[in-house]
Formats: sequence, structure tokens, C-alpha cells
Amino acid sequence: MIDNYIAFLAPHLCSGCGTEGVLLCDSCKNDITEEPFLYCGACAKRPAGKNGICKECKVPYERVWCIADRRDHLQRLIGNFKFTNTKSASTTLAQLLHDQLPDMPASVIVVPVPTISPHIRQRGYDHMLLIARQFAKMRGLSMQTSLRRATTAQQRSVGRAKRIEQAKRAFTCSKSLDPEKIYLLLDDVITTGATVKYATKTLCDSGARRVWVASISRQPMD
Ligand SMILES: [Zn+2]
Ligand SMILES: [Zn+2]
Repeated sequence: MIDNYIAFLAPHLCSGCGTEGVLLCDSCKNDITEEPFLYCGACAKRPAGKNGICKECKVPYERVWCIADRRDHLQRLIGNFKFTNTKSASTTLAQLLHDQLPDMPASVIVVPVPTISPHIRQRGYDHMLLIARQFAKMRGLSMQTSLRRATTAQQRSVGRAKRIEQAKRAFTCSKSLDPEKIYLLLDDVITTGATVKYATKTLCDSGARRVWVASISRQPMD
């Protein structure tokens, strides 16, 4: 309701073309979906092979999807959502995942990559939790908040080596997980790939045997 009130005061603008009334118009959505990300989700360098991973990358998850490059409309849409309080962008981003990801078996459990607590306090919400909840509802899948952040280290402003070092200790999982289920990790952007790699390892340490990864965007880091 508060979001509707804010929308009344300051109408939503398309992140691509600025059209009033929507956060992403159909035409700008097409711009994103007609150029899907075709590289390996782990290294972003070599063409994706089977399951979104190239032949040379060894990762603990079975498959990965990245919807598109993190640039232009998609970058602005994610950026607005994370750093200004456009809470309703979660619906737009969940819908994008719903439209672009393939059908999944009913045994899939959606697990959001949790946001660090200073960012939750600053924004008033955990943006990936909002997206995961809506995506799971659209798909009729269940959702679990199995992962917790073990540290409050910020990933945004540090270099590659430090990001990887931080990611190794970033998560804990308090639940014991079902080896028969498939855990689908959801994140908004894959940068070095370290976050989803160590999030997957944490799930596997708690009993998961099958982990898939879906990210809204992929950022090549060079
Ligand atoms: Zn537009
Ligand atoms: Zn690769």
C-alpha cells in the first residue's frame, strides 16, 4: 500500500525508455530477452556448454542460468531496486525470471542468496527474498531461507581476490537439507561467481546433493 502511495506521488518510469507507468515496458523487456547471456555462467568467457557451464569450469552446482548481461535497462532496473526503494521492481524481476527460465520439477526449492544485514537495514527489505518469494509463487514451488550471512562484509567495493576470500566464509546454513530435493539458488548478479559457488558449498555441507543456480544478470569482470 505504501508502495502504491509512492507510485501515486512519483509514477514508475521504465528503466529503459522512461515511459510512465511501468518499471519495464514490453519493448524494453524484449531488448533484454532477445539478447540472452550465452556464455558460461561461471567464467563468463567461454561459450556455455551443457547446463550453462563451459567444459573447463568445475563448479559445485549442476547447472546455471543467467538471463542477460548486466548492462543498460537491466542494470538500471536492478540498480533502482537495490539502491532506491522501488520495492515493486521485485515483481518485474520475478516475472522476468518466470518468463525466461525453463519449466522445473516440483521437487525444486527456491533459495534466495541472502542480502547482508546493513543493506537490509538501509533499504528496509531483503531484495532477493522478495524476488524469490514472488518467483516461487508464480511457479508453484516452495521457498526456503536456508542460507544466512555469516559476515557483514560488503562485496561491492572490493577487488576480485578479496571478494573470493570473503565469499568463502560468507554463509551458514542452520537446517539439514533433503538430498532428494533440488535447491535453486537465486541471485540478482553473478560477478566473480564466488558467491554462488560458496553458497552452493554451504548447502551441500548441510546435506543438499543437487543445487542449481539462476541469476538475473551476469557481470563480466576484467
Ligand atoms: Zn521502456
Ligand atoms: Zn567457464
